Amino acid sequence: MPSSDSPSKKRKADEEVENGHPKKVAPDHHNGSSNGGSNDALITSDDPLHPANHICELCHKFYGHGWVTGTGGGLSIKHENYVFIAPSGVQKELMKPTDMFVMDYTTKEYLRRPQALKPSACTPLFLAAFTKRGAGCCIHTHSQWAVLVTLICEAGHQNAHGPNVFAMKEIEQIKGISRGGTGSTEILEGGRKAGNLGYFDTMKIPIIENTAHEEDLKDTLEKAIEEWPETCAVLVKRHGVYVWGKDVKQAKTQCESLDYLFQLAVEMHRLGLKWV
Ligand SMILES: [Zn+2]
Repeated sequence: MPSSDSPSKKRKADEEVENGHPKKVAPDHHNGSSNGGSNDALITSDDPLHPANHICELCHKFYGHGWVTGTGGGLSIKHENYVFIAPSGVQKELMKPTDMFVMDYTTKEYLRRPQALKPSACTPLFLAAFTKRGAGCCIHTHSQWAVLVTLICEAGHQNAHGPNVFAMKEIEQIKGISRGGTGSTEILEGGRKAGNLGYFDTMKIPIIENTAHEEDLKDTLEKAIEEWPETCAVLVKRHGVYVWGKDVKQAKTQCESLDYLFQLAVEMHRLGLKWV
């Protein structure tokens, strides 16, 4: 608990850290209950990169992309030991920091739980990416391009790597995808990222079956993450995609690159072109 932190550790939380993380997230626990009450100190900051503010800005952006239409999709950021999650059933373009759920990553207990709202059904799936991949951000979209790609594979087309795999190669944008989703972002000579796929690598994204309830995807999603160590995402048939990264920047970059590739794949298929 932050209240038991040593003074030096507490100072560290106040300092600005690299990679666009917020200056301060650590809450004042004297200012809210620890059993899921209002605890507004956790979500109050004038720093635009504070996860509570950042999630709202990203939801607004993603709504514009058609990724989170009709309250579908979602987004979570893990910062230090806190997991910030957009709630269920709220119009994503109207999201406010006060709508945010905040969970203690170690205990999985809610430190902040808005009484009028429901926690996102995606929560166990976001946690799977944080736990199994060490991710710091996970994005779930209902992008039509992602759905269409799964339908094309389901119909038995483009199955060079099997019916439950989306595979693509020799497209420049594949270089925007890191191995495992959390690969090194160190820039090598020539501008290539050390942990990313190369132009001649085949990108493979597993496709899992949809379930009637989102939270029931947890076991198959976890299994797919384990069985596909190189993937940065899992496609859900007739539903959408989960994409992660070690931080917001990497998750967002990969989600954009993938959506570009999904759209390209649909258009290629329409033109009778093979993906691999
Ligand atoms: Zn969904």
